[in-house]
Parts: sequence; C-alpha cells; structure tokens
Amino acid sequence: MSFKAAAEPGVKSANGFVPLSEPYLNGREWEYVKECLDTGWVSSVGSFVDRFEAAVAERVGARHGVSCVNGTAALHMALLACDVRPDDEVIVSSLTFVAPVNAVRYVQAHPVFMDADYDTWQMDVKKVERFLREHCLVRDGACYNKTTSRRIRAILPVHILGLACDMEKIVTLAREFHLKVIEDACEGMGVTINARHVGSFGDVGVFSFNGNKIITCGGGGMCVTSDEDLTQRIRYLTTQAKDDPIEYIHHEIGYNYRLTNVLAAIGLAQLEQLDHFLEKKRDMARRYEQGLIIIEGVSLMPKINGVDSSYWLYTILLDDKFSFEERRRLMGQLNRLGFGCRPLWHPVNTLNPYAHELSFEVERTPDLYRRAISLPGSVTLTHEDQRRFMEALILLAGRLAG
Ligand SMILES: *Cc1c(COP(=O)(O)O)cnc(C)c1O
Repeated sequence: MSFKAAAEPGVKSANGFVPLSEPYLNGREWEYVKECLDTGWVSSVGSFVDRFEAAVAERVGARHGVSCVNGTAALHMALLACDVRPDDEVIVSSLTFVAPVNAVRYVQAHPVFMDADYDTWQMDVKKVERFLREHCLVRDGACYNKTTSRRIRAILPVHILGLACDMEKIVTLAREFHLKVIEDACEGMGVTINARHVGSFGDVGVFSFNGNKIITCGGGGMCVTSDEDLTQRIRYLTTQAKDDPIEYIHHEIGYNYRLTNVLAAIGLAQLEQLDHFLEKKRDMARRYEQGLIIIEGVSLMPKINGVDSSYWLYTILLDDKFSFEERRRLMGQLNRLGFGCRPLWHPVNTLNPYAHELSFEVERTPDLYRRAISLPGSVTLTHEDQRRFMEALILLAGRLAG
C-alpha cells in the first residue's frame, strides 16, 4: 500500500514563489498518521510518542527524550527542571529568536544578554568568560552577579541557523561557575561538533519541530537529557504534575505540554528522512558558496572548526558599504521577484519587554542583524530555482554596489 502525500515536493512553489523554508512531507507521514487514526491512539499517550522520543534521543546521543507541544514549552520545562527560580539570572544569546528569552521570563528569571561574535555568529564565549570572571563571584557553590546581587543559575546558549556554539568552552565555564547549561538546539537538528550532536553537551538540550525547522511535526518540541532526575522531573511537569495514578492529587503546579501521538507520528516519519534532508541542505550550501563567492561585498556563512552544519537557514552578510536601508531594499526586491528572503531577528535585548534587562557589551549582534539576509533554502529548492535566485541576487547587489 502506498501513502504518497498529496502534496508533491515544492507544491507551494507552484505559484512561482520560492519559499525560505518549507516542509517536505514525502516519507511515511501518511502511513503513520493513518495508523494513529485506525487504532484510535490520537492523544498524548501512544507508541509514536515513545518511538519519537527514543529516536530523537538516540540521534542526539542522549539517554532520554521528553516531547512537548513546541520548542518554547520545552525550553520552559528545561528551565524549571534546572531549578531556575524567580529573580535568578540566566545568561542567554542576544542574537536569537525571542522564544528562549521569553521562556526565561516564564519562570520569572531575568536574562543577561550576551553578544554574538563575528567569526561564528553564535554566543561570544570570550565575553561569557570575561563577564563571569570580572562581574561575578562564586560563594558556597553558587554564582552571583556582582552588579545586581542576583544568583546566576544557568547559561542558555542558542545554536543559530544550523551552526553551533562553542560547547566545550561553555560547559567548562559552567562547571567552574556552578551553572546549569540548557542548550537551545531548536535550529540544530542534524548539527554536530566533532561528530557529537548539539543538545547533548548541556544538562538539557531543547529541539523544535515547528513547520519551518529542518524536520517538523507541524508543531512540536523535545527536551533531551541523559540525567534520570531531570527526565522524571520534565515528564512530571509536562503531565500536570500528577501525583497519583487514580486520584487527582497534584503537589505542584503542572502543565499540559505533552505532544500528541498524531504529531509524534509525523515527527518520526520526518526523522527517518533527516539524513536525506541534510544531504540536500549541504548540497544547497555548496552551490551558494560556489555561486556567490563572486559577489563583491558579500560574505558567506561562516565555517566553524569541527562543526558539521545543517545549513538550516543559509544566511549571508552584506559588508559595510551597503547601508541598512539598502539591505532592506534588496530583501524587498528579492521577495517581490518571488524569492523568500528574511532578515535575522531584531536584537532581542532591544525589544520592548527586554530593553531594561542587563546586556553585557552587546555590540556585534546589532551589526550582524543590520547586515544579514537569509536566503531560500528549503529541502525542496531545485537547482534551477537556486540558479535563478543567485542570478537575481548578483544583479541586484551589483546594482547597489555600483
Ligand atoms: C523555533 C525556535 C524556538 C521555538 O520553537 P517553537 O517550536 O516554535 O516553539 C526556540 N528557539 C529557537 C532558536 C528557534 O529557532
């Protein structure tokens, strides 16, 4: 029996639009979802939830996975399980999607924003080290911020765009300063550092299976960890903190954050195709590298020593001769021509809810934001569409430069 997805690859691009990042659902998604419907196992208990959790944990190289409704909820649970409390501080990337910072506020802790560095675009570990050594102190096995007197409980590096933070350095610093490490690996599925998967370095790694990520459930997320206690804790919190199998007894405030079996079924089918997706993405990146090297004033996505990137969002940087207005105009023109291009995230430390929080020498993040453009990079991107896109980009960027 065949369960071919109704949508052929690139069906959304049939109107000519080349999307930034669209899902590709041509594996066993239909078959697995049908199995859920045929058996009646549609809710948050079921074999696909267990199989998906086990498969993600295995892929990441961690002992356990606990699925959640989305990556943001998984970040919330990771912070709670790591005992981040009201009025604590969490060191977090400033060049990131807003979700991990919001999660810090869900537990009523405060972010301390860390800069990105030019070589990797990820959290600047030299600044992390300087911040900890010069502005913090350790007393009775706990780390305190000397400026605010608050306890710093954790560090939350965000692996962005399919690249990776320097986890060896971050974990070493975290041990020295008694900090928990929560890795936001929501954009990092398939990314390794010296052959070890991101999300397996910290106390908890967090993944997202939102529609724009490299593999998707439609919406979904997961905490992975090798720690038994953290696993139990996250499972408990995500299932309403249920303390008795029969009676409705809850000793703590719980959450209804579990993923449903139907969505886990889609996720499992997606995970089965991850290696194929990674191949496609890496091939796309090589084409961008070869095709765009000739544009003056544009730098390509960085290569980081030891990191095998997934190129989740292939992103370029315009150099200083382009103004911010020109970058915006170029992006607008490309979108009008039918090519999905996007800016990076507005520096989170300057957003309305966060402008009053502590930022440590955040200087590169606004500049990277000002100069970056993410390019069409779906698994469905054809060589022909990519060639047409690069032609348009080269022409328009050349006009601006000229
Ligand atoms: C997508 C994403 C999230 C949030 O995941 P959702 O599943 O959309 O809640 C968190 N952090 C980063 C860096 C992301 O890219």
